[in-house]
Amino acid sequence: DGDKAPRRIRALDQDVVNKIAAGEIIVAPVQALKELIENAVDAGSTALEVLVKEGGLKLLQITDNGSGIDKEDLSILCERFTTSKLQKFEDLQTIATYGFRGEALASISHIAHLSVTTKTRDSSCAWRAHYDSGRLAPAKTGQPSNPKPVAGRQGTQITVEDLFYNVPTRRRAFRSASDEYNKIIDMVGKYAVHCSHVAFSCKKHGESSTSIAIPANASSIDRIRQLYGGSVANELINYSTSDDRWGFKCNGLATNANYSIKKTILLLFINHRCVESSNIRKAIEQTYSAFLPKNGHPFVYLSLEIDPRRVDVNVHPTKREVNFLNEDEIIQAICEHIRSKLAAVDTSRTFLTQT
Ligand code: ADP
Ligand code: MG
Repeated sequence: DGDKAPRRIRALDQDVVNKIAAGEIIVAPVQALKELIENAVDAGSTALEVLVKEGGLKLLQITDNGSGIDKEDLSILCERFTTSKLQKFEDLQTIATYGFRGEALASISHIAHLSVTTKTRDSSCAWRAHYDSGRLAPAKTGQPSNPKPVAGRQGTQITVEDLFYNVPTRRRAFRSASDEYNKIIDMVGKYAVHCSHVAFSCKKHGESSTSIAIPANASSIDRIRQLYGGSVANELINYSTSDDRWGFKCNGLATNANYSIKKTILLLFINHRCVESSNIRKAIEQTYSAFLPKNGHPFVYLSLEIDPRRVDVNVHPTKREVNFLNEDEIIQAICEHIRSKLAAVDTSRTFLTQT
């Protein structure tokens, strides 16, 4: 009878659940890197080094000089939903840090070999720990291995090796390591422009030259010059505006009417998190269309800060998309401001050529 038939609906094994969730958060090496950069910045780092092998699939290592992690926290560091940044659901409303739900390291540990070397200011040595599927990796005895003391400076080094080693279909989907490396360079570059007092470096393993090397004291314009070239950096307008009605303020650097390229370059940060927004992109392109030749597009760096109570960062695990109240009004206000700035530059140029 029915009782003896095998049940067709069964609960998935917890490890399977975690692996599926991990694959949703970490789609490509660049997403893992973005989480690691955000963690390093959250930890108050002023210098950040990235090392990459095979587009991040073989090795992704990020070294920071931030607060470090207490040795006592290392055993639960990679468990899902362990975080130092959020305690109550309500805290999501006022959260100012990048991370908030303790999923990044957990996810990575399910789909890669993850190890951490970290030293806080008060610790006499650094500690190194290896993780597997959310836990300290088992030692030869089968027991979880304990963190080991090692020499090291203050800060944290996270090493991610063999990403997607246990998700072969995903691993095989990556055709080109250099495509993945370019995405990584792009992401590091965006944070290097935004985090203006932080030094950034990024290089391929085994190569002596760096792809990115930005010193801590470089100005925003110098950062853009190094990363996007002088033709962009020489034509930038500084802008900033705010409106209490919609609870936002923004500032940034955008090219004037002298500059145009085939495709818009948009560096968009909302509450200090690098995000995408097709609505903002479209509105900016629309604004520039009145100033640029046909098929010409701008470079725009935009840092938008919105009252956290008006933002829903929780729409998707990757936090790539962000929803906020009065989106249309805010976008319109920003574009109107940029338009007035562009018009002012345009008039002075016309004026100059006329005299
Ligand atoms: P979240 O950032 O959402 O808290 P993560 O899984 O990214 O979740 O990180 C878990 C915790 O590990 C963080 O809350 C933080 O306390 C600690 N941590 C991660 N990376 C670093 C780092 N580079 N420096 C200091 N602490 C870190
Ligand atoms: Mg995080």
